[in-house]
Amino acid sequence: MSVSRHDTEYDVCVIGAGLSGLTAARELARTGQRVIVLEARDRIGGRGFTVTSDDGTTVDVGGQWVGPSQHKILALLKELDIETYKQYTQGKHLLDINGRQTQFTGSIPKIGPAALLDLQRVIWKVDRLARSVNANETHISEKLAVLDNITVAGWMQRHVFSKTSRAVLTAAVNAVFAAEPEEMSFLFFLQYVNSAGGLMPLIESENGAQDSRVVGGMSNVAEALAEKAEQHGAMILRNSPVTKVFLKADHVRVLTADNVYGVHRVIVAMSPRDANRIDWQPALPIAKRRLMKNMPMGSVIKTIAIYPTAFWRQQGLSGEMVCDREPLRMCFDATPYSKNGEPTHGALVGFMLGKEARHWSEQGPEKRRAAVLNQLAAYFGDKAKQPSDYIEKDWCADEWTEGCYTGLMPAGLLSQYGEQLRKPHQRIHWAGTETASEWMGYFDGAIQAGERAAAEVLSKL
Ligand SMILES: Cc1cc2nc3c(=O)[nH]c(=O)nc-3n(C[C@H](O)[C@H](O)[C@H](O)COP(=O)(O)OP(=O)(O)OC[C@H]3O[C@@H](n4cnc5c(N)ncnc54)[C@H](O)[C@@H]3O)c2cc1C
Repeated sequence: MSVSRHDTEYDVCVIGAGLSGLTAARELARTGQRVIVLEARDRIGGRGFTVTSDDGTTVDVGGQWVGPSQHKILALLKELDIETYKQYTQGKHLLDINGRQTQFTGSIPKIGPAALLDLQRVIWKVDRLARSVNANETHISEKLAVLDNITVAGWMQRHVFSKTSRAVLTAAVNAVFAAEPEEMSFLFFLQYVNSAGGLMPLIESENGAQDSRVVGGMSNVAEALAEKAEQHGAMILRNSPVTKVFLKADHVRVLTADNVYGVHRVIVAMSPRDANRIDWQPALPIAKRRLMKNMPMGSVIKTIAIYPTAFWRQQGLSGEMVCDREPLRMCFDATPYSKNGEPTHGALVGFMLGKEARHWSEQGPEKRRAAVLNQLAAYFGDKAKQPSDYIEKDWCADEWTEGCYTGLMPAGLLSQYGEQLRKPHQRIHWAGTETASEWMGYFDGAIQAGERAAAEVLSKL
């Protein structure tokens, strides 16, 4: 294959066209920088991905919700003239843990008074501890390092007394991180909570991170943002995985399969895990390499079952279910709406999370579909077994992210290598939602990180 060289055509190369990279590209392009964005996939949007079912329904198989305190994504949607609509939460939610099924409304699950008191105490304690850490601070003091040396599971064993509240918290950790409490450091968990402004904003639908959905889906947002960047002259190339980056004294060379781009600065806008797959020459500092190698992604398979109507609503159910069973650990109403605000179909979105996702990733689509529909039928009735369409996305098997929603820090990583998260290395700058200090792991954080990396680059050019 012939290799062509573009030595001086661009000032900045942004690697990755998720919301973070597209934000950085737009910010730089509008100040007159010559920007090229290289995206590995044949589509842009990364972990935000909308697909269309056989009957024309659009569904998000990646991220889908936005919340009222996520100011960056809300501002972007407003600018792009993209509307949101509220997550359906009317009716009763289902909780099925420790072999006991209950129905409840609002955000407080129906559990015994002792468990409820314990749960409220633990939420208060987590919030208090989260306020004492700073998601913007990656230098970890010796005092805080103690919290980094234990996992969330280890902390729960010591501080959560009731079996029920422990199960509810485990379900919450599964839901928020697509991971088990054993998989991450307690300090990382606290930073994540801090970056979202508390535990409840992460967990809640109404007024929380699951408050609203985006009309037309998240791929639309990426496409509209890319268009803005292109209007300012940015060049966005799909099907262009970056394989190698050479850091030179006065420029950087970025290699794809068939091109070499010589640029002044590079923004890497992807998870640390993804960035680890690029061949860096000369090698990045050892601490940065350790961080990238040891920050695994969460594990999630997302399923969407589409029905002629949202039949569970007639039964007084919201469609929201949280359980400690398999394959799904939770599901929500995902009914799509037409432009005039009427539901076009019914839909239930389900999540296989953490170890269940890893297990079911190996089982194949047929087995998964049958198990999901059987489980939905157990909660919502036999109609759930007959969807008009069924769509799933196994993010564990995804070539580019190898899991989702976001990068996780196991015990010890943050205190040892956290400083490397967003620290530029020579002409390389780091974006991606994992590097955000507000709403890290979310679209909002992706935008914040993209803006921060663009500002860093501008201050150097
Ligand atoms: C199932 C699921 C549910 C989620 N739910 C929500 C939600 O409800 N709300 C919310 O706010 N967030 C949610 N998220 C998280 C949200 O999607 C991410 O935080 C956000 O999309 C991250 O954006 P990013 O730009 O930082 O990274 P990405 O979107 O991952 O973008 C990185 C890009 O880099 C590309 N890339 C990787 N390697 C290379 C390479 N070598 N060369 C070139 N390009 C490369 C990738 O293809 C990708 O396009 C969810 C994610 C998933 C998967």
